[in-house]
Amino acid sequence: MSTSEPAAPVQVIAVHDISPSLRRVTLRAPDGRAPSPISPAAHCHLFFPEARETAVDFETRLNTRSGPPGRVFTYRRIHTDGSFDVDFVRHAGEGPAARWLRRARPGTVIGHRGPGRGKLDPSAVGEGGLFILADMTALPAALSLLENAPRRRDVQAIISVRHSHDDVALPASVRSSVWLIAERPGALIGALRTRTLPAKITLFAACEAAEMRMLRRYALDELGLDRSQVVTSGYWKRGLTAEQVDRAKRKPDWLGDLVG
Ligand SMILES: Cc1cc2nc3c(=O)[nH]c(=O)nc-3n(C[C@H](O)[C@H](O)[C@H](O)COP(=O)(O)OP(=O)(O)OC[C@H]3O[C@@H](n4cnc5c(N)ncnc54)[C@H](O)[C@@H]3O)c2cc1C
Repeated sequence: MSTSEPAAPVQVIAVHDISPSLRRVTLRAPDGRAPSPISPAAHCHLFFPEARETAVDFETRLNTRSGPPGRVFTYRRIHTDGSFDVDFVRHAGEGPAARWLRRARPGTVIGHRGPGRGKLDPSAVGEGGLFILADMTALPAALSLLENAPRRRDVQAIISVRHSHDDVALPASVRSSVWLIAERPGALIGALRTRTLPAKITLFAACEAAEMRMLRRYALDELGLDRSQVVTSGYWKRGLTAEQVDRAKRKPDWLGDLVG
């Protein structure tokens, strides 16, 4: 996906809560064409209308300079009719995605641009297998990697969840490979410290940016993994909007090499 590629309208087909913290939104383009090609954990940009904006006004504004704000999400599943699921974390922040999610209804139109490639190619996973660390924003990416990893590779995941019943979002096929822990700052690194990992492991960590940095530092400095074995991505940053994160990344003192 190129950032110069225009966004296109997609319609909300269905909205339902799949766990206490996750709301699934099913979207479809007017021509029913599915996003493609899709790599595991592929992402898209979604653009959200204002509360009382009509679909016509929104579509007129979609690819203009004063266009609607975009946020990055992961394709959870593409259906045979071309529709696709996106699993949103319901959070209390006042961002455009979170605000829109509270009022999302079938029939609403939003903007979509994608797909963008996932950051990890499962076929490149080392002999020691794949170890995934994710919070709920990266649960769709983690599940995609778990479902698409080569059979001969061992894949395990530690996922931090917000609610004790969020386990219902896990398909039965991956349950034996996933450990759920309660989300709180430092939870993922705490869980990682209790593990002994094989030398030729590939580590994928995607979560809140400060947490991700701790995981990356630990993997490189304390576990002694090579940079090629460690794929990390900050999916959101506590206290900052996505625009503020983008602006901060352009400053020279931002630790850009640590944030995907
Ligand atoms: C490659 C990639 C894939 C992603 N896939 C998904 C996905 O499938 N599902 C998903 O839910 N998210 C996903 N995210 C994360 C999502 O893009 C961010 O959470 C985004 O900031 C949400 O936008 P917003 O408009 O709600 O909040 P923003 O306007 O960005 O932020 C407003 C406030 O809300 C806070 N905030 C943002 N996200 C969260 C959160 N999850 N929990 C608590 N506070 C938060 C911010 O710190 C800020 O204070 C992905 C991110 C990346 C980079």
